[in-house]
Amino acid sequence: MSENNFTEFETDFESRIMSSSYTEEDSVTEVSLRPETLDEYVGQEKAKGNLKIYIEAAKSRGDVLDHVLLYGPPGLGKTTLAGIIANELGVNIRITSGPAIEKQGDLAALLTNLAPNDILFVDEIHRLNRSVEEILYPALEDYALDIIIGKGPAARSIRLPLPKFTLIGATTRAGQLSQPLRDRFGVLLKLEIYTPSELCSIIKRSAGILGIEIEEDGALEIASRSRGTPRIANRLLKRVRDFAQVKGDGIITLDIARYALGMLEIDELGLDNVDRRMLETIIRVYDGGPVGLETLASTIGEEAITLEDVYEPYLLQIGYLSRTLRGRCATPLAYEHLGIPYKKNSSGANDGQTTFDDMN
Ligand code: ADP
Repeated sequence: MSENNFTEFETDFESRIMSSSYTEEDSVTEVSLRPETLDEYVGQEKAKGNLKIYIEAAKSRGDVLDHVLLYGPPGLGKTTLAGIIANELGVNIRITSGPAIEKQGDLAALLTNLAPNDILFVDEIHRLNRSVEEILYPALEDYALDIIIGKGPAARSIRLPLPKFTLIGATTRAGQLSQPLRDRFGVLLKLEIYTPSELCSIIKRSAGILGIEIEEDGALEIASRSRGTPRIANRLLKRVRDFAQVKGDGIITLDIARYALGMLEIDELGLDNVDRRMLETIIRVYDGGPVGLETLASTIGEEAITLEDVYEPYLLQIGYLSRTLRGRCATPLAYEHLGIPYKKNSSGANDGQTTFDDMN
């Protein structure tokens, strides 16, 4: 492949390679790369430690596991963890998502088809509609469905018993869940962004499964540019492998990793064009901030929800962005990274103070 081919290739992936959201390309390998046991699941020690106890306790009581809410940015392993919980408990898991359950009847069909102790996994649970949520409450609390039969004065409600089951809800925005729904989860687990060394282990594990030869420092280089997200780490591993095959002898070395990631315009911190544009716009157009999310999104031509779910968590985590009550601000670190001299703006708003609701 010529240099030119690389450029075309890069443009094709550029816009989505660093997105932590699920893409069709991921589906080919994600299944094979998903760990199946808690021991194989790298990192998230706090969540894993708690889960081990809850799983053990439920098993020894011969009872169903309490409902679990997993929250955190996309690509951190929520779906994977739900599968592991089912596996460790030795029960079946049914996978669906909030937007896929349109009517009460859709949820009723799912629930009545569960076997005792089964798991129902609902991704993007914050997108369940209110009428569906209403029949979910008695299902979660009393393992029963309240169904209305008939209309008008003749309408009556009958209660249908359900098998005991566990709901595992996943969301990128726990703050958007209604309070009554949130209250019905006995176990709330927040998934954290991964450290480079954890991502390095994930990359080496994935390389082993995919038959890719990779050197330790090559793996660490990819890890440190994966913005704390296993999905991105696995995706970058596959892209860098392509470069290793064409430009090298198939082995991912530090040099190959650096070269490939440079071609993909992913900098040493894993920031891509959108991150850089976002920070640069706050600094150059809005004098460092504060700027409202919607305004920022329309200035750079991205969706506000994408900035909030996909880009912000990592920028907040590395201290390049702060969320204040009046909007987003770039911090001195962001100025430094972009090589722009820092000047405290007149409102004093870009002082790095974050007012960040932990549940969001
Ligand atoms: P989410 O549901 O949070 O969007 P997924 O569970 O789909 O994320 O994870 C994306 C991919 O990342 C999975 O296919 C899996 O290969 C990998 N992955 C996620 N978390 C881990 C982990 N802790 N250890 C190893 N691989 C992981």
